[in-house]
Parts: sequence; structure tokens; C-alpha cells
Amino acid sequence: RLQLKNICKEFAGKRVVSDLSLSVAPGQVTCLLGPSGCGKSTTLRIIAGVERQTSGELWVDGNLICGDGVRVPPEGRSIGLMFQDFALFPHLSVAQNVAFGLTGGKSETHSRVMELLDRVGLDGFEAKYPHELSGGEQQRVALARALAPRPKIMLMDEPFSGLDDRLRDGIRDQTLSVLKEEGTAVLLVTHEPHEAMRMADEIALMRGGRIVQQGNPYNIYNAPVDKEAAAFFSDIN
Ligand code: ATP
Ligand code: MG
Repeated sequence: RLQLKNICKEFAGKRVVSDLSLSVAPGQVTCLLGPSGCGKSTTLRIIAGVERQTSGELWVDGNLICGDGVRVPPEGRSIGLMFQDFALFPHLSVAQNVAFGLTGGKSETHSRVMELLDRVGLDGFEAKYPHELSGGEQQRVALARALAPRPKIMLMDEPFSGLDDRLRDGIRDQTLSVLKEEGTAVLLVTHEPHEAMRMADEIALMRGGRIVQQGNPYNIYNAPVDKEAAAFFSDIN
């Protein structure tokens, strides 16, 4: 379980994340939903460890990983990352991309790679290279790669925004079922209410660096906290 406690972040005295507290349980998807510039990506970068919060604490499974003199480096956090551009290694095959973060023996690595490719529906793709794949296939390789080391937490920043409209919902659903099977705690960033409604168990609605409302999609949709929140959801049907 990932816990953020009163996270604040300032850049040159300007506050972009304000007193943000949040918890994500294993097997659950929590969405950070909000307009451009509200601090979503900054929050993910702090959790990933590539940026440090100005104040507040990060906990994973009851262990302090950042705050109060403690700072576990990014590679020690058991966190998987998936961003908008999938950033596959172009010179590595699909199998080599998925195996990239794995440290175990050869046969163990091979069986994990095959298991994941099967799970994301890319059986038989192991010897192909990224440039031979469609956007949706690349997205699924990136998902398999991020999951390969069995991270406790998966951070996803608009991972579907580069995809064709026709493919997007199908890939969202497939991604979700793979993540649920793995039991990963997922924090998904999006500015699209439809995506949050479709994928989230819990939505944290952000504005100006703060969480203005948090709850399950049904409650947020039916009882928006104010006019601005209502307007944000109004074009979903
Ligand atoms: P989007 O939906 O457009 O990706 P976002 O919610 O992810 O937006 P962030 O990238 O977290 O927004 O940025 C939040 C605010 O912090 C913005 O005003 C941005 O300009 C500012 N910001 C982000 N990174 C830095 C930085 N390294 N230095 C200074 N300001 C920054
Ligand atoms: Mg962003």
C-alpha cells in the first residue's frame, strides 16, 4: 500500500502541490484527475523519487521511503512507471525490453517474460522490435516491462493518450485486467473524466495542487463538490 501524507511541493517559492494526502491499496486503481497544470505529474515524480517533496512523507507498506531524513532511491522503491511515450528501447527486442529490469537467472527471466507477453496478448511477439509494432502493441510491451519486476506500485501518467481513439477503450480495459491480476496498487494520472470513470476504484479530483474531492467514481459523478467539478464531468454520458 502506498500512502502520501501531507505532501507539499514548491518550485522557487511557488506552491504546486499542497497538503496532498492519499492512500492506494494493492489491486486498486486510484486516479489523480484534474486539469492541465494542477500538479498531477509533479506528484507522480515525487512518488517515483525523481523529485523531492518540500515537506510531507511517503510510505510503502508501512515503511517510510521519503521524508524526515529518509530517502530511499528510486530503484529501491518497488515502483513501476508507465508514461505517455512508452520509451521502449529501440535497439532491443520485445523480449529484451520486457526483461530489462529483471535480475534473476536466465530461465526464471525467460518464463516471466513469456508469462507477461501472454498476459498482455503478445504471444509470439518476443523477437520483434519496437518499430515493427503498432502503438497499442508498444503500449502493451511497456506494460509488460513495467510489471516484470513485480512492483508493488504502478505509476501511470496519461499512458493511453498517444493511442488511436478506436483502440483506446479496449487497451484501457485490457491494461486494467492485467494490473488487477498482478495485484499491483495503481496510481493513474489523467485529465480525462471518462478515463477515470472507466478505470478507477477511487478518484482524487485535483485543482491548483490540492485534492478538492475524493471518492468512488459513482459518488464523484453524482455528487460533485462544486460547480467546477460538475462542469468537469458534464460532457460524459
Ligand atoms: P498536465 O495535465 O498538463 O500534464 P500536470 O497536472 O501534470 O499538468 P505538473 O506537470 O505537475 O502539472 O505541473 C504543475 C505546475 O508545476 C505547473 O504550473 C508547472 O509549470 C509547474 N512545474 C512543474 N515542474 C516544474 C519545475 N521543474 N520547475 C518549475 N515549475 C514546475
Ligand atoms: Mg502532467
